[in-house]
Amino acid sequence: MTSFPKDLIHKFTLTPTPFYYYNMELLDHTLQNLRLESDRYSFEVHYALKANANSHILKHINDFDLGADCVSGNEVTRAVETGFNSEKIVFAGVGKSDEEIKTALANNIHSFNCESMQELEVIDQLAGGMNKIAPVALRLNPNVSANTHKYITTGLEENKFGINQWELESIIEKLNSLHHIRLIGLHFHIGSQITDLSAFKSLCIKINEFQQWFSQRHIAIPHLNVGGGLGIDYHDPDGHSIVDFASYFRLFHEFLVVYPGQKVHFELGRAITAQCGSLISKVLYIKKGVNTHFMILDAGMTELIRPALYQAYHKIENITQGSADIQRYDVVGPICESSDCFGKSILMPLTSRGNLIAIRSTGAYGEVMSSNYNLREKVKAYYSDEF
Ligand SMILES: *Cc1c(COP(=O)(O)O)cnc(C)c1O
Repeated sequence: MTSFPKDLIHKFTLTPTPFYYYNMELLDHTLQNLRLESDRYSFEVHYALKANANSHILKHINDFDLGADCVSGNEVTRAVETGFNSEKIVFAGVGKSDEEIKTALANNIHSFNCESMQELEVIDQLAGGMNKIAPVALRLNPNVSANTHKYITTGLEENKFGINQWELESIIEKLNSLHHIRLIGLHFHIGSQITDLSAFKSLCIKINEFQQWFSQRHIAIPHLNVGGGLGIDYHDPDGHSIVDFASYFRLFHEFLVVYPGQKVHFELGRAITAQCGSLISKVLYIKKGVNTHFMILDAGMTELIRPALYQAYHKIENITQGSADIQRYDVVGPICESSDCFGKSILMPLTSRGNLIAIRSTGAYGEVMSSNYNLREKVKAYYSDEF
């Protein structure tokens, strides 16, 4: 019924709920597989800190010698403090503040992934003030649809991210006039939770076109950063606990044209940390509704906002009992918002007050997005190697 061993569930019953639990063996196996499959092609992988920035998790990831993908100055600082090599840190984001840019410049990061003309001017100015040359990759908008939820699609012209193709000519002109910036690469990121790999094939084809454009103008592009977004199986976390990195990297090897000496970079978040995390919660009340029963948990959207924010699916398991009697439930949290619902009309074994519920695949964009709304306290995290 569940992948949690009996003695672990027993330990859970002695621990105040709700809490996050991380399976560090699974994280390590995921990282081993990621390294194996990316090393085949000498691809460079940067871990996207925004998926999960817990120090304990970051240390494990850094042990596998990955780079870091940051989207704020504080993430750059956290990566450096954890021990990530600053020459392997990339910094993206549509709204980098002056302070954040200065933090990144002071740490001599690998590259700024720049998203607009004005940002290039500001980075140039700030780098000049610090007597530095800022390495810059242009984040280009490939206008490729990721077939994912509209809130996590980023590669379309109507999204706020990136530089559009029709702006390129003037961007290059501008670059020639800026003396504290060095163009080192192109950057792309089309969205998140992408399970249809054909979206990445479309991305490769677009990148090849962009590369031709640059090569015709004799502009060298030493680094290609294809972003992240590889999706995981939220429906079958035990059957597919590690994503198919082999097919993913093979696809880029097959369809991306790589010029001699060029380095290819990836930025993966969810695919690395999602499956190792679970949110463990207790049933407070069962309440009869009109067409359903409400299962009211002590965890809510303050601990896991993905269902409320993107109508995201997470597998929900009763890990206390596997009764043969099945009942239909709306699984909800205690927060005063109707969107505070983890699953509507789901069939589960007959459940009662005090049962433990595991919400699976919450290692990415879970704890890191938690809030104190309703003055709730931040919940604890436990790790299998110290639990
Ligand atoms: C969020 C983000 C990523 C990571 O996305 P995942 O879907 O977690 O792999 C990579 N690059 C950029 C620029 C991002 O904003």
